[in-house]
Amino acid sequence: MDSTAAQSSSLLTANMPAVAPPVLPANSSHMQPASGFSMAPPPGFFASAPIPSLECSFLLTMVAIPSSTLIVSVLLGLPFATVVVLVVLLAIPIVGVDDTEVDGEATVVVTMAPLDLVGSRCPSFRGQARTLKPEHRQSFSSFLQGLEGVQKGQIVEGLIELKQYLKKLGYYPSDDITLTSSDFDDHLELALETYQEYFHLNVTGNLDSSTIQQMMIPRCGMPDIINTPSTKPNSTTSKHNEFHMVVHYAFGTQKWPPSKYALTYRFGSGVQVVGSDTLRSVCSNAFQTWAKVSPFTFQEATAGASADIVIEFYSGDHGDQYPFDGPGNKLAHAFYPQDGRLHYDADENWSTDPAMDQTDLESVTVHEIGHLLGLYHSKDHPEAIMYPTIAPGKKKRDLAQDDIDGIHALYSN
Ligand SMILES: [Zn+2]
Ligand SMILES: [Zn+2]
Repeated sequence: MDSTAAQSSSLLTANMPAVAPPVLPANSSHMQPASGFSMAPPPGFFASAPIPSLECSFLLTMVAIPSSTLIVSVLLGLPFATVVVLVVLLAIPIVGVDDTEVDGEATVVVTMAPLDLVGSRCPSFRGQARTLKPEHRQSFSSFLQGLEGVQKGQIVEGLIELKQYLKKLGYYPSDDITLTSSDFDDHLELALETYQEYFHLNVTGNLDSSTIQQMMIPRCGMPDIINTPSTKPNSTTSKHNEFHMVVHYAFGTQKWPPSKYALTYRFGSGVQVVGSDTLRSVCSNAFQTWAKVSPFTFQEATAGASADIVIEFYSGDHGDQYPFDGPGNKLAHAFYPQDGRLHYDADENWSTDPAMDQTDLESVTVHEIGHLLGLYHSKDHPEAIMYPTIAPGKKKRDLAQDDIDGIHALYSN
C-alpha cells in the first residue's frame, strides 16, 4: 500500500456522519422532478394537453357538412345548393381554426414546461422529517442520554456503540484497539478524557452531563484527531505520513496538485432530498466561498461527464464504511483529496433558511468542501468553518481567518 492510500485508509477509519431529521423535496407544489436531477416533466404531463388529430377533423367534416346542409335546407326552405354554399363557407374557417389549435396547443405544451420549471427555482428550501425506518427512529441523543452517569467498571449495553463513535472520530490512540466488549474500561476512560480535552470540558474521564451534552451537538462525521497509520520508527513511509498541526487549523499530506486547481463537480443519484436547483445554488455559493481565497475554480461538469467531485445524499449505510445515523449527530462527511466524494445525511432536517430544529445546508457544504480540499478539523476556533460541530438553526457560511490561514498554508506553493 502506498503512503497516500495508507493514510487515506487511516483517516477514513476515524469518522462519520450522524443523525438528523430528514428532508423532503422542497417546492412540492411545483414541477419538481420525482427523482434525479433530470429536468424532464413527470410522466403524464403531456397527456394532459391532448392534440386533436387531423384525421378526426376531416371525418367530422365529411359527416357533419352534408347532414347539417340537408337539415338546414329543409328547415329554412332554401334551395339545397344555396345552403351548400353557405355551409362550405362556414366550414372552411372552422376546420382551419381546428388546425390552428393543433399548433396552438402543441406550442402551449412546449411553452408551459419551461415556465413551470422556472417557477421551481425557488432558492428557499425548508425540509421536513422523512418517515424513518424503525431502526432509525431512536435518535442518537436519546441513546446518549441513556449512558449518562455510567461508571468505570460497569458493563452496560450501548457502551460498545459509544466506543465505536469515539474511535471513528479519532479519540482512540490506535486503530489497533479492537472494540468488542460493553465494559467501561481504561481505553474508554482515556478516550473520554481526550474528547473532553478537545472540547475544553472538565477532564474527568466520566460520562458526565456536560460530556453527553457536547456529544449531542450535530457535527461533521469526519474525525477530530487524525491518527497516523501505525507508525513504525524505521518505516520508509512514516516521514510522509506526518501531518502538520499549526495552532488551530490542520491538514495532512493529501492535496490537489496544481494541475487540478480547476475542479469540476456533479450531483450523484443518491437520495433526492433537496430540489436540484436549490442544491445547485447552495453548492455554487459554497464553492465560491473557497474559490475567493484559494487557487481553485469550481465548475459543474457537463451532463454525463465525469467530475472530480461528486455530491449526493445518503441514508444510513451507503457502502463507504461510514454509515449515516438517522436524524441528529452526524450531518455529512467528505473525503480528502483526491477522492472527491461529498455525502450528506439524507435523514437530517435540511434547510436553506433553518429554523431551530433544522440544519443549514450551505454552512455544512462550505465545511465539507474544506475537507475535499484537504483541511482537517480546526480545534480551538468555534467560529471557524472547519470546527467540527454546528448548532441546529445556525448559519455559518463565511470563512474565519483560521480557515483562510489553513487553506493558504496548505496551498502555499
Ligand atoms: Zn468535518
Ligand atoms: Zn458516505
